[in-house]
Amino acid sequence: MVAQTILYPLRFEPIYQYRLWGGRRLSDLLRAPMPNGPIGEAWVLSDRDDYASKVADGDLKGQTIRQLMVTFSEPLMGNLAGCFRRFPLLLKFLDAHRMLSVQVHPGYPPSRPLPAGEVAKTEAWVVVEAGKESRIDAGLRSGVTPDILRQSVKDGTLADRLSSITPKPGDAVFIPAGTVHALGKDVVVFEIQQNSDTTFRLYDWGHVDVKTGKPRALQVEEALACVNFGESAAGLVQPVIESAAPVARERLFDCEAFRLWRLSGNLPFRVGAADLPRVLVCVEGAGKIEHGAATYAVGKGEVWILPAAVGICDFLPSDAVSLLEIALPAR
Ligand SMILES: [Zn+2]
Repeated sequence: MVAQTILYPLRFEPIYQYRLWGGRRLSDLLRAPMPNGPIGEAWVLSDRDDYASKVADGDLKGQTIRQLMVTFSEPLMGNLAGCFRRFPLLLKFLDAHRMLSVQVHPGYPPSRPLPAGEVAKTEAWVVVEAGKESRIDAGLRSGVTPDILRQSVKDGTLADRLSSITPKPGDAVFIPAGTVHALGKDVVVFEIQQNSDTTFRLYDWGHVDVKTGKPRALQVEEALACVNFGESAAGLVQPVIESAAPVARERLFDCEAFRLWRLSGNLPFRVGAADLPRVLVCVEGAGKIEHGAATYAVGKGEVWILPAAVGICDFLPSDAVSLLEIALPAR
């Protein structure tokens, strides 16, 4: 029955996550009701065993991204069918009310073995909201050696060793695997990352988890082993303007793991790619996707997959819209 279903633009339900550093602001961004307590993350597209995104509407409502990858491999993934064991990207919104732990993800150096079953994790952020005190740390200041870093973790001066940015809405920040990073003090970001769940914490600002009454575990030696102490592309990204009309099309990230463009404007424009899947994330405004005889209303905070079989569509903004379009890694 399901196998005869024709794929259509697919919206996914967010999965909220308690985090001790979280806040309440994701409820302004996302329509789905939010549980009580500090919520730090909304996983808006996730193909993890413990958290599987489900289709929100239509004939395929309730199907997980995992099930779709199996049942609809060709029409969903097109030229990338069979290339990935699971959907290769994990997409989230983060509300960092307090500082996140200073952390690093494995994947650097590329020759170093990863934990069994895991892949490297390069990630990137697009800032949605920021306050006066907000802070993003992306990489080490120059001259920080492994010994200096280890000592600064011990004596609680790690923050002084980090290269920090005062973020503002619209900023794009790239965090390749091996980058020491953190963010917080009332910053909301969209996060794109490789589908990996391995994080090594270097420092946690003395936070105590109210759920356990204890500080969270650190993994200092594991973290130090995968830090890139050399040259790096980490930090603020200068967008590349690819076109100005009918929509401003800026390329924000272009790496081995993903490509991401920001499309801003209020006139109709094209989204999607022939024979390839694309992901759309609406960060501001609203509009609709036109596909065949149908239209699909897209609201702020929503995440959609345009399956390969859907291909290129028109997007009709209802007012000024800011849409992120994401391409999967080429294989
Ligand atoms: Zn991270």
